[in-house]
Amino acid sequence: MFNQSITIDIEYEDGDEFVHAEGGSFCSDPTCPCHEDADLIAELAQDLENGLLTPEEATIIFTGKY
Ligand SMILES: [Zn+2]
Repeated sequence: MFNQSITIDIEYEDGDEFVHAEGGSFCSDPTCPCHEDADLIAELAQDLENGLLTPEEATIIFTGKY
């Protein structure tokens, strides 16, 4: 009897591997798609416009480097 082991390669689809911290904000991974999220960017721009954030704070939030 010839037994052949079966190897199953699990492949992840693009986008499944990044780890984005939940919380509806930007994370510190510059390759994460959240930095291209129009809703998040609009929200940040709105807070900036309303004076809730300084440009410095907005930059910190956008880069995720608290
Ligand atoms: Zn992210």
